[in-house]
Amino acid sequence: MQVSVLASGSKGNAVYVEMDGVRLLLDAGISATRIKKGLAAEGVDAASLDGVLITHEHRDHIAGLVTLSKWYELPIFTRRATIEHMSCRAAIPAERFHAIEGAFRIGDLTIDPFNIPHDAADPVGYRITGSSRCTLATDLGFVTASVQEAIDGADVLVLEANHDPEVLKHGDYPWALKRRILSNRGHLANADAAWALVRMKKRPAHVFLAHLSEKNNTPELAENTVEEILHRQGLDIPICMTAQDRAVHLH
Ligand SMILES: [Zn+2]
Ligand SMILES: [Zn+2]
Repeated sequence: MQVSVLASGSKGNAVYVEMDGVRLLLDAGISATRIKKGLAAEGVDAASLDGVLITHEHRDHIAGLVTLSKWYELPIFTRRATIEHMSCRAAIPAERFHAIEGAFRIGDLTIDPFNIPHDAADPVGYRITGSSRCTLATDLGFVTASVQEAIDGADVLVLEANHDPEVLKHGDYPWALKRRILSNRGHLANADAAWALVRMKKRPAHVFLAHLSEKNNTPELAENTVEEILHRQGLDIPICMTAQDRAVHLH
């Protein structure tokens, strides 16, 4: 299994997962050029992707989708309501879209979308299972019981650690935006990410902390907060930080 977080954060998200010969892109929220170059740096031709899985319609998850779709004619998988709410929907031929509901297969992999609480039409995380399991859960206000269940058993987990609530509260965001981020349908705080890891029954081999806020977090703060909680619980889980402007890999 190969996992590369090409970019992660409020300005754009894209994750590449290769497992059992199937090549997937999870979200296309950076430019198609960056996606193409990011994959090329991994030795992967973007034209060889088997599909693009979209979590939800916010711009930081679909900004590169129109151009990517024009260049490579890739199948796009997401929930029907997400397709309907995409600002760029009309610019993409309808036959590229595959509306999904429950689990489906691409090659030998089972792709299992699961609901996440976020202020979008029908947002999902993805659990990808083949010879290993990679799970992505970003853009969620809190870890529901069903999200906790969905992330369990992941070998590689891409989990949101968006903000520190104290930094957010004292920062200069307008109150309405602060309230949105802190709400049950906003973004996940560092400590909440840590507790989700603590509650996992099977320890993941690798965790990427993702979708860090540039204003209300720092990689050091996220890492320290999560490590400290894990340490206090006697857990040792390998954590790596993702970034907005560079790729982070796991081979
Ligand atoms: Zn979002
Ligand atoms: Zn987002």
